[in-house]
Order: sequence, then structure tokens, then C-alpha cells
Amino acid sequence: MNISKSRDLFVRAEKLLPGGVNSPVRAFRYVGGDPLFIERGEGAYLYDVDGNRFLDYLASWGPLILGHCHPEVVAAVEGAVRRGSSFGAPTPGEVEMAELVVAAVPSIDVVRMVSSGTEAVMSAIRVARGYTGREKILKFEGCYHGHSDALLVKAGSGALTMGVPDSAGVTKAFAADTLTAQFNDTDGVRELLGQVGGEVACVVLEPVGGNCGVIPPPPGFLEMLREETANRGIVLLFDEVITGFRVAYGGAQSLYGITPDMTTLGKIIGGGFPVGAYGGKREIMEQVAPLGPVYQAGTLSGNPVAMAAGIATLKQLQKPGIYETLECLSAKLEAGLTEAAQRHGVTATLNRVGSMLSPFFTDRAVRNFADAASSDADVYAAYFRGMLERGFYFAPSKWESGFVSTAHADDDIEATVAAANEVMAQLAAT
Ligand SMILES: *Cc1c(COP(=O)(O)O)cnc(C)c1O
Repeated sequence: MNISKSRDLFVRAEKLLPGGVNSPVRAFRYVGGDPLFIERGEGAYLYDVDGNRFLDYLASWGPLILGHCHPEVVAAVEGAVRRGSSFGAPTPGEVEMAELVVAAVPSIDVVRMVSSGTEAVMSAIRVARGYTGREKILKFEGCYHGHSDALLVKAGSGALTMGVPDSAGVTKAFAADTLTAQFNDTDGVRELLGQVGGEVACVVLEPVGGNCGVIPPPPGFLEMLREETANRGIVLLFDEVITGFRVAYGGAQSLYGITPDMTTLGKIIGGGFPVGAYGGKREIMEQVAPLGPVYQAGTLSGNPVAMAAGIATLKQLQKPGIYETLECLSAKLEAGLTEAAQRHGVTATLNRVGSMLSPFFTDRAVRNFADAASSDADVYAAYFRGMLERGFYFAPSKWESGFVSTAHADDDIEATVAAANEVMAQLAAT
């Protein structure tokens, strides 16, 4: 594969950007080799600056559930940008977006739009603290909630990829207010909340882990959290930045039938533009300025171009059969990859929830961070490179999810499985 133009760009980029990138995992450090610079996307495909084509399972880390350049999204964005890119005043799109979100997500009566998932979770935590008058939060090891200080404690995603789950620059005071537990440790969580529950403002989690590979919630775990938090006056916050409109139109909370007090969204609702949102029960959201004492604001919040992209995306997702199609394609991919590993004697566990899936190269069932950590990073890197060389672009780190989009077709999945068979055969041989 010729990647000379990407290499030249990376040489220039490394002089000017930390590690040559604007978000760490993009640098490919975990899997080796130079990152590819992307020129354009079309449907399920990515094209790099050297003209190589890849079937895209990264989906911009989740947002692109319709694939690249969906015509309705492009038309909505073009229309919006011609009317003006930002006003700093209310626009109709914000109302329409709020109506769509509130109708879709069971826990959200009132919503505030922001510009990233990080901002959404950071703000939701502030609201939970303001509402409860308590300071501590409980999060789970390997869950990623963006890069705000309080949440970069035992964090997932790029923090794991870079080996800094506890980031430098986060003060001891911030870290001290962030308690952590294991994702599937029902007894441990009950015990911890029994001891300090009265000081805890918020329990925050990804209801389906998506930032240390895909980890479905263990049976009964979400129910237990709902019960414990309700009994102790703790705000239960589902971070559905990945799972919202991904695992089901109403997110993981509608899939599993557990309604949290607050929810954060991002990724898909921006339709590929920088967007986040937080919302919840009316009583809680009435804490937010200008109604209440919790301050939060944003110059570009509810940006009209981003709202147009998000609204167009959600409208496509309302069409009948979308999630069934995604489920079929993703189940087929899961089965094909599992079979490929088995056929060639490669030890692997495939985890999947809807159109999120990830292979773990381990003999363990993967139910929490420790299980995910047991998977072989070198084998993942070799798998990644083998697939990339064959034209299949998965996440450049074992700590991430792969995403199927509505732009993927049946024969795309078949081609992926065929390539995976070749790669697994190579892995088995080395
Ligand atoms: C991506 C992600 C975030 C952070 O969103 P950004 O838009 O990257 O700031 C937060 N929480 C979860 C669960 C995510 O997957």
C-alpha cells in the first residue's frame, strides 16, 4: 500500500501538533505504522490522500451511523450553512432537535445542547452536584466520559491506549472526589454505596461499555444501580454519548428498560458535527442557568449547522427497519469473525451489542476492564494492520469499538469476513 502522501503530511504535522494529531489515538501509536490522512468519505468507504480505499468500521468513532455524506444530511447542512453558520441567538433547529431527543430518550424531559461529549458529561456532573449538594461521584474502571478533570480517573479509550488512565495534570482533589468500581462488581458497588452513598452526587457509567472494547452490562447490573441510587438520593447518569441512537433509537436505556435520572448524548446526534447534549428529569434540569444556580453556557451551543446535520440523521433513523438491518449486518459480521478465529485456531472473544462490536484476543469472557486488559495487544495490532492492508479500517487500538453503519451492505460484510479469514490464518502462523 502506497502511503507516501500520508507520510509527508505526518512529517509536517509532527512538527506542529502534539504527536502530529488533534486526538491521541489517531496517531496509530498503539498499532504501529504511520496514520493515514483521509481525503474524503463516501457511504461506507474512506479514501486516503494516496487514493487508497477502505471499508470504514471506525465511523468517526461512532457518529456516522449513516455512513459518509448521506445525501439528506449533506442537503440539510448545505441549506443551513447558506442561511448562516452561527447567530448566538435561538434558532428553530434547536427546538426541533430538543423535541426529537425528548421523544426518543425515556429519561430526558428537558435537554441542553453543548458542543462535545466531554462538555456534556462535565456539565451533567456539575448539575448532579448542584442538585444533590454532594461532591463525590462514582465511575467505573475503563469507562470513558471525555477528558474533563474529574472523569480522567481510571478512564477508558485514548487514556488507556496511551497508558494514562489517570492523567497527569489532574489534581489530587479532583481525583479524590471520583470513586471508582469495577463494571460488573455488584457486591462491591453495593458495599461502597452502603459506606459513602450519602456523599455521592452521581453514579455515572456507559450502560454498554464502548471505550475499553464493547462490554454489555452484566445481567441485573443496571437494575441494581437503579435501585441503589434511587434509595440513596443519588443521580444515576447514563453516558450514552456512544450508545444513544446507536444500540437502539432510544439508546441503551430503552434497550434494557432502565431509566436513569440524567443522560448524556453526543456523536450520532451531531451527524458528524461537534455536538453533545445532557438532559434528564425536569426537576434536575431546572437547576441549570438561567432557571437555576448551576452555570453552563456555550458560544456555539446548538449551532444551526450541527443541529441540521443531527436532525437529518435522526430522521433517517426513524425509518422502519433501520435498527433491524443494522442488527442483521452486525450479527453476520460477529458470526463471521468468530468463525474465522475458530477456524484458524486464534483465541478470541467477540463482544457485540447492536452495531457496536469488538474482538478481544483473550480466552476469557470479557465482562469488565480487567478481562479486556487480559486481551493481547500485539495480536490486536497485527489484526488491525492485516485488515488495514486489505482495505478494512477498524479502530487503531484494542480499547475501542467497531461500528457498522446503514451504508454497509451484505457483500461488504462478506468481504470483511473473507479478509479476516486471511488475517487470522496469518496470525495463527506467526
Ligand atoms: C466519545 C465519548 C465521550 C466524549 O465525547 P467527545 O465528543 O469526544 O468529547 C464521552 N463519553 C462517551 C461514552 C464517549 O464515547
